[in-house]
Amino acid sequence: MSGLHIPIGTPDGSRTEHAENLLAPNPSIMTLDGTNTWVIGAGEEVVVVDPGPDDDRHLRRVRDHLADRRVTQILLTHGHFDHSGGAKSFAGMVNAPVRALDPRHRLGDEGLADGDVVTVAGLEIHVYGTPGHSFDSLCFWLPADRAMLTGDTVLGRGTTIIAGDGGLADYLRSLDRLRAAAEGLEARALLPGHGPVLPDPIGALDGYIAHRRERLDQIRAAQAQGARTPREIVRIVYADVDKSLWAAAEISVRAQLDYLERL
Ligand SMILES: [Zn+2]
Repeated sequence: MSGLHIPIGTPDGSRTEHAENLLAPNPSIMTLDGTNTWVIGAGEEVVVVDPGPDDDRHLRRVRDHLADRRVTQILLTHGHFDHSGGAKSFAGMVNAPVRALDPRHRLGDEGLADGDVVTVAGLEIHVYGTPGHSFDSLCFWLPADRAMLTGDTVLGRGTTIIAGDGGLADYLRSLDRLRAAAEGLEARALLPGHGPVLPDPIGALDGYIAHRRERLDQIRAAQAQGARTPREIVRIVYADVDKSLWAAAEISVRAQLDYLERL
């Protein structure tokens, strides 16, 4: 599509017409290449989504990149530290409020919740409540670019985990909702919190939904083989996954067991 630029090798600098990614230097097995800090705007005013971890070098780079453009608001996709840790420092640098669903992460009077519309220089950002990865996860729809910022609800590579403060039933509902929105709004791109831009939103969301169903089937099968504890299930279901990810997988398995018990 026109206006969608995906650099090879790193998500840094990937963009749509009104959104640009400045990659934070915090790569890890959980954060992929690092946290994507999205700058959204037109003309003199911008909104910054997820300043990233409290990394002075990254925050200065974002500020310097903005040059004369004014940050009107800082928005958080959710409160996990790799997205929110630098928010208050960055707010101090650019003198802007921080809006988030979770009041603990706000700076200023304004919250952020499903149905809100944030406007920056005539550009609209529509807020979708998408709990699951965390209880406070939000996605941001940018109608001008037909792009959805997905935070950690959908990542640019691999799959996300359901954190201890999230829930699988919520997560599955959020994926269905995003799938319906992507179809109804004819989304052209998902702009994730980690990893590269996804140029096929419906394909990506279908892949996520299918992956979740598959994992649930695998967990039922592992239980049928006698696995009981989350660790026993991880050993079977995640046998092909690097052991360094097993602790995270165990959190996801706990969320899935919780979900299955409530069916
Ligand atoms: Zn993250």
